[in-house]
Amino acid sequence: MADKAKIVIIGAGTGGTIVANKLNKKLKRKAEITVIDPEFKHIYQPGYLFQIVGRETEKGLIRDGTKLLPKKSKKVRAAVDRVDLEKQVVYTNDNQEIPYDYLIIASGSRLVPQKLEWWNDKIHQFYTPQGAAKVYDHLKDMTEGTIVISIASMPYKCPPAPLEAALLIDDYLRRKKIRDKFNIVFTSPINRAFSIETVNTIVQPLMEDRGIDVRTFFNVDEVDTEEKVLYSLEGEEIDYDMLIMIPPHEAQPFIEKSGIPHEEGGWVEVDRETLKVKNYDNVYAIGDTTNLPISKAGSTAHNQAPIIAKNILASIKNSNKVYKYDGHVQCFFITEIGKSLFIDFNYTNPPYPGKPSRRYWWFKLAFKELYYRFVAKGIV
Ligand SMILES: Cc1cc2nc3c(=O)[nH]c(=O)nc-3n(C[C@H](O)[C@H](O)[C@H](O)COP(=O)(O)OP(=O)(O)OC[C@H]3O[C@@H](n4cnc5c(N)ncnc54)[C@H](O)[C@@H]3O)c2cc1C
Repeated sequence: MADKAKIVIIGAGTGGTIVANKLNKKLKRKAEITVIDPEFKHIYQPGYLFQIVGRETEKGLIRDGTKLLPKKSKKVRAAVDRVDLEKQVVYTNDNQEIPYDYLIIASGSRLVPQKLEWWNDKIHQFYTPQGAAKVYDHLKDMTEGTIVISIASMPYKCPPAPLEAALLIDDYLRRKKIRDKFNIVFTSPINRAFSIETVNTIVQPLMEDRGIDVRTFFNVDEVDTEEKVLYSLEGEEIDYDMLIMIPPHEAQPFIEKSGIPHEEGGWVEVDRETLKVKNYDNVYAIGDTTNLPISKAGSTAHNQAPIIAKNILASIKNSNKVYKYDGHVQCFFITEIGKSLFIDFNYTNPPYPGKPSRRYWWFKLAFKELYYRFVAKGIV
């Protein structure tokens, strides 16, 4: 290894940005950090939920990603095409070759609605700023009808988001005093509304109390967007006026192309504690791109970043110390405009969120600024 370790980070989203800043603080002059991203357009994705009820704009969510990264880090504006894990080189789509001593894969997940032959743009989604804006444009002009919120397949990022969307839309319509003109239907592929049982015992009754029709064991088969019918594999049919669906997710194509150890969907196989990619001591993955059986969430990446930074520092110092990620995830789960739950758990301890509270709502509301000022910059 040269006097300075070469650390290359693929992706400047939540995970890539936080880990770059954590590394920069720990390593000072011991390493050269390079971050590769096609756009450096940093999006605060939790804000999409506020967008769908007209409380946030696309512009308000996006910041210049280069300004969140350490000043001295190299920023390569390109997409990674492939990685040669044996030669330790990253190749970009504009033919740059970037060698590394340590590699961190932080390329998140991508939406792949095109995998469903029946998907078209009459189906709404709120997992992009443009999609979320369209949801609000449509919703604000509706005066009656059936709104269905559905999940195309697992896994998808931020597991609470579809439930929060149903609860927020319910609240939005109540505030407009037209809730009684609408049916809101929420479909879940499993036997309950939310995957984590201890949270579901609070959330599902709350949804039902608010008149949201929760349909469990509803695995999406097909949508007829002309007739406006959603069909399940279990044989159910739901007529709708507006369908909001979470599209299928996959990891980025360069992972499969490069032979990086992965599961179906390209999710990178990592050690659940060290976050090292299977069979590779100098390659890590963070955030949505991993195959870990926990939430694909910004807070997951936030909790993983210091572990990766400390493990790389230990390796550079030839120390045998190993730092371990315990599966910690936390999030605010909006139940209405003005109230939120707080969910906090790890691999061994499930969450016990208590009751929805105003305090957590204010936290959720304030979090965008806290995120951009402190979290993304690796300060907390
Ligand atoms: C509606 C919604 C609500 C959410 N709410 C919450 C919440 O309340 N709390 C929470 O913790 N999380 C929430 N999340 C999830 C959170 O935003 C993501 O889990 C988080 O951003 C994942 O971070 P990441 O670094 O893995 O991926 P991202 O932040 O998505 O970053 C991936 C980066 O990789 C780059 N990239 C992609 N392909 C390549 C390539 N080939 N070469 C180089 N770079 C590449 C992209 O340009 C991007 O910058 C929410 C998400 C959504 C959609």
